[in-house]
Amino acid sequence: MTVDFKKYIASVQDFPNKGIVFRDITPILSDGEIFRAATHELAEYAKKRGADVIVGPEARGFIVGCPVATELGVGFVPARKPHKLPREVERASYDLEYGSNSLEMHKDAIKPGQKVVICDDLMATAGTLHAAIELIERLGGEVVGAAFYVELPDLKGREKLPNVDIFSLVQYH
Ligand code: 5GP
Repeated sequence: MTVDFKKYIASVQDFPNKGIVFRDITPILSDGEIFRAATHELAEYAKKRGADVIVGPEARGFIVGCPVATELGVGFVPARKPHKLPREVERASYDLEYGSNSLEMHKDAIKPGQKVVICDDLMATAGTLHAAIELIERLGGEVVGAAFYVELPDLKGREKLPNVDIFSLVQYH
């Protein structure tokens, strides 16, 4: 099925701050066929990259990444906001398109040498992706790719991470 995913992304002016156009992907999720098609595209990419495990940053990365992992029959590891995970963690900080934050992963979440694909709804500055990669590599994993519903190429995320293979369903300039 060829899908025009942009038809299922709402552009919201001035959210959460004035001057920002927020790309709302929830219409993809609420349509079963479209959600499945988006999941399938990301899963095909992750399969091609040889993913052993999917990592998703909190919170929309959970929604996007979990069904990709189940379609492939591989594990899913959450990268969470601080103080949510109960056991020993690694932490990395990053700048957002608006504000800053940190991500944490359990120290034993990735087995050394595992091939990881990171899934999230949207790549803007790639700060989130950068932090997730830092954590995965500290845990001994190998990031073989990153997959998004949406990419904002003007924010030059790819240029900041030239060695990372990046896939996105749609791009907004
Ligand atoms: P980055 O770290 O690449 O600058 O920002 C990406 C992160 O912020 C993602 O985790 C994403 O969920 C969130 N984000 C930033 N801007 C938007 C947006 O316009 N729409 C959505 N859905 N998420 C956004």
